[in-house]
Amino acid sequence: MGLSSAYYLNQAGWQVTVLDKEDFLNNCSYGNAGYVCPSHFIPMATPGIVKQGLKWMFNSKSPFYVQPRLNRSLIDWGLKFMRSATPEKVEAAAIPLRDIAVISQHEYEQWTKIPSFDFSYEHKGLLEIFQTQKVADHATHTVEKGKELGLDVDLLSFAALQQLEPHIKINGMGAVFFRCDAHLYPNKLMKGLIALLQQRGVELVPQEEVINFEKQQGGISKVITRNKAYEADSVVIATGSWSREVAALLQTPIPLMPGRGYSITLENSAYTINHPAILVEGRTAVTPMDGNKIRFGGTMEITSTNTPPRMNRVQGILDAVKRFFPEFDIPMPEPGKIWYGYRPCSADGLPYIGRTKKWKNVVVATGHSMLGLSLGAGTGKIVSEIINEKPLSMNIQPFEVERFG
Ligand SMILES: Cc1cc2nc3c(=O)[nH]c(=O)nc-3n(C[C@H](O)[C@H](O)[C@H](O)COP(=O)(O)OP(=O)(O)OC[C@H]3O[C@@H](n4cnc5c(N)ncnc54)[C@H](O)[C@@H]3O)c2cc1C
Repeated sequence: MGLSSAYYLNQAGWQVTVLDKEDFLNNCSYGNAGYVCPSHFIPMATPGIVKQGLKWMFNSKSPFYVQPRLNRSLIDWGLKFMRSATPEKVEAAAIPLRDIAVISQHEYEQWTKIPSFDFSYEHKGLLEIFQTQKVADHATHTVEKGKELGLDVDLLSFAALQQLEPHIKINGMGAVFFRCDAHLYPNKLMKGLIALLQQRGVELVPQEEVINFEKQQGGISKVITRNKAYEADSVVIATGSWSREVAALLQTPIPLMPGRGYSITLENSAYTINHPAILVEGRTAVTPMDGNKIRFGGTMEITSTNTPPRMNRVQGILDAVKRFFPEFDIPMPEPGKIWYGYRPCSADGLPYIGRTKKWKNVVVATGHSMLGLSLGAGTGKIVSEIINEKPLSMNIQPFEVERFG
């Protein structure tokens, strides 16, 4: 969110500085599954996930886990999450999620035209492969809803699915095929974007943790880090899973929890799959990317960023892959080869994008949960429109930063 906002603001003529508490080279935007997916019009907070999550909480390999803690922020987030998980709110989220995803996909397509900025973007669609009748029934509804939203989507029989993927044996009943989706190689996107910004004169400062703000006449005059104070006319808070704490420095409440996920990437993979695929009952994502790499990712562990990673969750991902693709024999990698990152999970699965009520020159861009890669370019564009007081590409009222009060 930070880099993409910087891209559009630089283009609009702003002198932009991006501060990162780390070195820009390892955050949630690297090891993710790389889906650019208008198909994801159902937000994270659904009645189903609340019911399923309660059952899964006691299984250490399960794909969804809330680490039970007596923590005020977690309890507050959990209550808001449950209140958001209603059929009416899920329905209301579909159009805004589709709209921002379509804008974002269009922007990524524009980025592919920038010379020497290659991030292995491919528009091949996404398969959601399922194994049970219960999911098959639900898939019919998803396809209808997708078509109603104008997305290019179809239900595939097992034979049609196998025809699309002739090189692998699939244990499944069928799939939803979202032709509207694309994917890219996130590591290349991030590194390419950094190089592009530097080339265009954006200042990127690593090891620069924001710890406070200097306030003046209802606005922010300086951003204060551990080392220095930076003067600012406008400030964008795009600090991912740390945004609740950063926004709290501005008395702006953002219900947000880190949702840890893990991924494994095989370079020069012996396994081939033509299309990115979600293994629905296994809650696992498989993405062929950047030539013959293949990435397996999953799990949603609502936790703190200080809890040590639980590597047995990765075994859960590999077990799911084997259940769907029985020929895929992937040994558990050494811990150093397992990537993990923290999704900034809002309390309803919709991002927080917009100005704060209290501060006239602060824009927030966070809370994208499972969709931050997909919505990245679009969010940056909208942030720039807000700051430049230009007409907005879409109605962002559903993403209002202080919607939970
Ligand atoms: C396994 C997995 C698979 C995923 N797959 C997909 C997918 O296929 N498609 C999709 O759309 N999304 C996916 N996601 C989600 C996506 O990766 C995230 O939503 C997205 O990366 C969040 O981006 P961000 O810019 O908000 O946060 P980040 O990328 O985490 O960036 C936040 C930055 O803020 C910095 N920061 C924090 N606090 C401070 C501070 N005080 N001062 C200075 N800097 C600070 C951090 O160092 C970091 O660099 C996946 C996530 C996981 C874990």
